[in-house]
Amino acid sequence: MRSVIAHVREGNILVADGAMGTFLQQKGLEMGTCPELWCIDHPEEIKDIYRKYREAGSDMVECNSFGGSRYKLNQYGLGERTAEINKAAASLARDVAGDTQYVLATMGPTGDFMEPYGLETEEGFYDAFKEQAQALEDGGADSIIVETMTSIDEAAVAVRAAKENTNTTVIGSFSFDPEGDGRYASMMGVTPQDFAQRIIRENPDVVGTNCGTGPDEMIEIVRQLREALPHTPLMAMPNAGIPEVENGTTVYKETPEEMAKKVPALAQAGASIIGGCCGTTPEHIKAMKKAATDISST
Ligand SMILES: [Zn+2]
Repeated sequence: MRSVIAHVREGNILVADGAMGTFLQQKGLEMGTCPELWCIDHPEEIKDIYRKYREAGSDMVECNSFGGSRYKLNQYGLGERTAEINKAAASLARDVAGDTQYVLATMGPTGDFMEPYGLETEEGFYDAFKEQAQALEDGGADSIIVETMTSIDEAAVAVRAAKENTNTTVIGSFSFDPEGDGRYASMMGVTPQDFAQRIIRENPDVVGTNCGTGPDEMIEIVRQLREALPHTPLMAMPNAGIPEVENGTTVYKETPEEMAKKVPALAQAGASIIGGCCGTTPEHIKAMKKAATDISST
């Protein structure tokens, strides 16, 4: 298979998976336990989730490795098993993906903060993301997505570590909240423009946005990223709408059909990798894949 970036540069749209966490909860993952350990303890359940998205038509199997950095695993006393867990996450995905689908490995935030906001050093973060990225590539990942980041410095270190230590296609993705009047920014005030200008210095292959908003808002965020980066491939993984709280639980209400309708506008704005974040299911991905295929064939 050609590399992810070669495929995208030819003008193809790739569709990635939807949410993982809700699926794990349905399968019995208990609150306060480590989701990534399921790659070792419940490999068949993890493969079943991967397979459901593959059957929905996704082009990229997303690994259960979001919280797989040593920092995050340390919270469960599992730091020493970082390489083993990440390698398993990717190799289970490779089993399911075969040679017709890509393996997209995710690296999420450490949950800690670097100096001067926290006690951790940049070197410590770099080493942790390097360790995770290398294990994911060892397991068979084609691509690594640094995602749901809200600290621009942490996103930059993670992208640099993946770029410098693997041959995968590296995606740098950030989450923005709506600020009203078509403006978006992270909790710390980072706008799509700020993010684009900072992250591009680390040479990511693809720049993107995930979580934080639904597809309507993300169309505008992708436009702003495109304005800042006219030639860089872009990615968008929206939530299934803006979350609403009902009876104390967070729900996402956008239907597969509603999300699929927005795929052409996301592509038009510049996104060439499109997937789903919180609240999205295989049904969403199936409808979005169909919409993406319709664009490619017209
Ligand atoms: Zn999300």
